[in-house]
Amino acid sequence: MDEKLIGKRLKKAVFLAIGIMAALAVLCVVLFVFLRNTVYSATHDRLAEETGIYRQRIYEQLETDFRILDTFAGAAEPGKLWESESFGDLLCEINSRNDFVTTGYFPKGEETGIIALEGESAARETEYASAVGEVQTAVASAWNCSRTDEQQVFVSRMFDSAFADEKVFLYALPLYEGDEAAGALFASARMDIFYDIIDDGNVLGGNGYIHLLGSEGDYLVRSEHTIVKERPDNIFEGDYFSEEEGERLYAAMQNEERVFSSFRYEGKSYQVVLVPVRFNGWYLFCINTVRASNGPAFRIIWGMCATFAALLVVIVGLLIYIYRLLKKNNGELSYIAYHDALTGAENFIKFKQDLSARRREGCLAALNLRHFKFINEIFGKEKADQLLVQAGECISRHMHTGEFFCRDSADQFYIFLLETDREIISRRLNGIMDEIVGTFVRMNSDYRLLIYTGVIVLAQENEKIGSENAVAQALLAMERAKGGYKNNVCFYSPDMFREEEMDNYIESHMQAALDNGEFKMFLQPKVDLGTGRVIAAEALARWVTGDGRTIYPGRFIPVFERNGFCTQLDMYMLELACRRIRSWMDEGKKPIGISVNQSKLLFFESDYIGRVGALLEKYKVPAELITLEILEELALTDADELGGKLAQLRRMGLRISMDDFGSGYSSLNTLGRLDIDEVKLDRGFLREASEKCCGRSAVIMEESVRLAHRLNISVVVEGVETAENHSLIRSLGCDVGQGYYYGRPIETEKFDALYM
Ligand code: C2E
Ligand code: CA
Ligand code: CA
Repeated sequence: MDEKLIGKRLKKAVFLAIGIMAALAVLCVVLFVFLRNTVYSATHDRLAEETGIYRQRIYEQLETDFRILDTFAGAAEPGKLWESESFGDLLCEINSRNDFVTTGYFPKGEETGIIALEGESAARETEYASAVGEVQTAVASAWNCSRTDEQQVFVSRMFDSAFADEKVFLYALPLYEGDEAAGALFASARMDIFYDIIDDGNVLGGNGYIHLLGSEGDYLVRSEHTIVKERPDNIFEGDYFSEEEGERLYAAMQNEERVFSSFRYEGKSYQVVLVPVRFNGWYLFCINTVRASNGPAFRIIWGMCATFAALLVVIVGLLIYIYRLLKKNNGELSYIAYHDALTGAENFIKFKQDLSARRREGCLAALNLRHFKFINEIFGKEKADQLLVQAGECISRHMHTGEFFCRDSADQFYIFLLETDREIISRRLNGIMDEIVGTFVRMNSDYRLLIYTGVIVLAQENEKIGSENAVAQALLAMERAKGGYKNNVCFYSPDMFREEEMDNYIESHMQAALDNGEFKMFLQPKVDLGTGRVIAAEALARWVTGDGRTIYPGRFIPVFERNGFCTQLDMYMLELACRRIRSWMDEGKKPIGISVNQSKLLFFESDYIGRVGALLEKYKVPAELITLEILEELALTDADELGGKLAQLRRMGLRISMDDFGSGYSSLNTLGRLDIDEVKLDRGFLREASEKCCGRSAVIMEESVRLAHRLNISVVVEGVETAENHSLIRSLGCDVGQGYYYGRPIETEKFDALYM
């Protein structure tokens, strides 16, 4: 699998896991908020409910005060009272009984009234004008009241008492004469009367405090117990509430709304509620002293969250660990999967991936070491492996950025270079090959390593061929680079592909062609240079395919030599030659000899000689009419064994001719060692001799002819194309000429018509 794909899947799994964890975390937060809100709203309800009870108690206290005054006011006749001497005493008595600070009366429209101070006698002639503003306002409201009005009691705002060193507030209610107010009865009460109410120590089961506030947020009655040590005069003093929150609370208070809030003090959060008393703008300010987060419900929530968070951390940690482990393993696995264990280079799979993924033009080279099997056997596996490692390192050193290479199996390397210029490619590849050869020379000084490389240039227009095809084409070019005696670089060309295709065609059709008689025997005359007469012919194969195409032996013989089919064809040609001689004899013509080409593979077949004999026998052909042309190269392979077989054939009467003499490593020695009848001088010999007339070639040729004659070997010259060629070989003393000058290879029927 692709390394990136594995990584991708791994990442996907991790992201999925992280996604699930995140979803769980969100769920947890939602749950937390929900629970917290539930707990808050439960606490709020409880706060509100409790505060309501205290408000009720305050009401009750106020009502008691009212009732006393009201009862008094209901029974009184204002005129009489005012005149009465005991009015002062009466007021003193109300005062002392009810804990008022002052009680008093201001007749309507008068400038003075009467005031009884707590624990003192009443003072008449108290000036109305001398009373504080709060008193005047309340009194004036009572004066202006009539019986039918809904509000009959007026309460002042809180003020500093002129008589007691504390804050008080004032009740004022009208005394009527008829339906109109004749005066205002008033009593000032201490705020402290609410202490006992709000400071009973039972607020929220002992976990809360209540303060009584004025409408502006100032403390009217402060509970003994407070959380805030600084004891500000107003709840908005200090920075317990943020400015915004303060504004919200203040606005709510102006509208006499109940409002919840919280504040932080010394790192702890407290919940509060402000409940309007609906009396004189007063507010009850209740604080839940139990820190919100310490409540049992909160403890459960926090516990849950902590557990979950811990779990989350553990799982995330585990995920990271697993991810790293998998990534590491994945890395190791993909290293193994994509690298060659021996050289550490990339392997072919990875190379092909890289080749497919590449975006730039360049070239692909297939590099191979010649005779690596041989090196393996001769120098041993260890040395051979060492050579491969060195080769890998060597190639690696020559790679530029963006270039890559791999070792496939054995000694097959592939290299991708970012080059398209053939000259540069050749130079760089030759550099690599020379360096590898150099290293091997240092390892084994006497072995000459040969390397061959096939290259396909992957320029823009070739882009569509795909990596598989590119590799195949580089290999094809590499096969072409194989021959030769030095390092070689061969570039792929479409012809190679066509040749490959042709090779495939030949191989897949050869047997059927032989069975169908598609191989024809053409004859080329051999001319006696002395008489000018055709004294023999050479049988040359032509493949005339079903659709009339003629394929020449230069194309199919090398293929047959590679796959061994040559032996079948040669025997077939030998049979055709025998048949032709037979028919000449049967037709009463004087038969001439026919030379047939014999591949060296035949000489390795055990029954070869027997089969030749059988053919001669079958067609009753005199053996001396058949000349077997063997290649010079064959004579060099294993001269002694071959010599034995040739001697046997000669004993049977057949003539032996050494073909293409002078094309390879000719040695005049061979002539002496082999028992042959004829030597055919290669075309090249004649070419050289005629180009540099009287030069060295002519001398060698002349000497060869002399030597051959001395050994009783007749000399045939091939490729005689011109009259000059003809005169030259005649002057050199050659015996027989063969070439276009005398006649091309032609069908047997035409040959018969022309020469027989
Ligand atoms: P070869 O045995 O050396 O055959 C001579 C080749 O030279 C023939 O080519 C012939 O057509 C060509 N030739 C003849 N005169 C001239 C000339 O004046 N100028 C030039 N340039 N060429 C001339 P061909 O027929 O194409 O055969 C090529 C080779 O194929 C032969 O070389 C031979 O080695 C091989 N061959 C042909 N038929 C057979 C066969 O039946 N069996 C085997 N084993 N090999 C065969
Ligand atoms: Ca020949
Ligand atoms: Ca020849």
